[in-house]
Amino acid sequence: MWNVCGSEIRHSPVRVKIVVTSRSRNRPTPLLARKVERIASVLEEHMGKPVQPRRKSAPLDSLIATLLSQNTNDRNSHRAWLHLKREYPSWEAVADAPTRMIAKTIEVGGLKNQKAKRIKLILERIRREVGRYDLGFLKTKSNEEAMQYLSSMKGVGMKTAACVLVFSLGREVFPVDTHIHRLCNRLGLVQTTNAEQTFNAISTVIPNGSAYSIHVNLIRFGRKTCRSNNPLCSTCPLFDECVYPDKVTHAAMAARPSGRSKRDVDFIILNHVS
Ligand code: SF4
Repeated sequence: MWNVCGSEIRHSPVRVKIVVTSRSRNRPTPLLARKVERIASVLEEHMGKPVQPRRKSAPLDSLIATLLSQNTNDRNSHRAWLHLKREYPSWEAVADAPTRMIAKTIEVGGLKNQKAKRIKLILERIRREVGRYDLGFLKTKSNEEAMQYLSSMKGVGMKTAACVLVFSLGREVFPVDTHIHRLCNRLGLVQTTNAEQTFNAISTVIPNGSAYSIHVNLIRFGRKTCRSNNPLCSTCPLFDECVYPDKVTHAAMAARPSGRSKRDVDFIILNHVS
């Protein structure tokens, strides 16, 4: 592993195999590639084409915000982020603070002790390896290098690392959380058993330039229509593309207009964290 100066840094081995979108390797089958394009087109038709904001957050901000978003919903995650920024004027101040105080500050986001501990460890490591609280050097690294570096940190999985690449570095990477994993399987884009497998499989079939749009629209689609427990199959614009065995049963049920489950709001779109 490298540091900001390009010299070797030794740390714990990477836990996962990283595969990011590559046009030269792992070419998608034409049928699957066309299906992805059809789905992207239908989603844009129904929900518009998401455009990535020009102003992007700093990579370290994005990393901590994404970490805070784990296992909670958008609202509480954002509140935890605001509390942290309000309480501490800099990352240095966070690094100097006792873990229990950080935990108290981010309490609203859940898993306060675990997250506080991880934030401290991440900041300490970045300070030790980079010399300051800044991940700006990732801008000069390839997608693979940036993913490897981020996901080698404790508590940073592939989804969190991919979110930093997309929302802060503007890279062509497709983050996969449990919801996108569910949708990709229901739509027959992959046949996988966990989000990490889906990330590796789907990265090869996302059309160049579409990762952000498909990611954001799938999140919106999962929130509004293809909900985890009560999908609105009767009004789904992707019904014909879907391979979910229970879709006919759900389509026959009267669509329930309210009663969103806890999981239905557990989605994150991290465009701005500042
Ligand atoms: S038909 Fe139902 S299960 Fe399939 S994608 Fe649409 S909402 Fe989801």
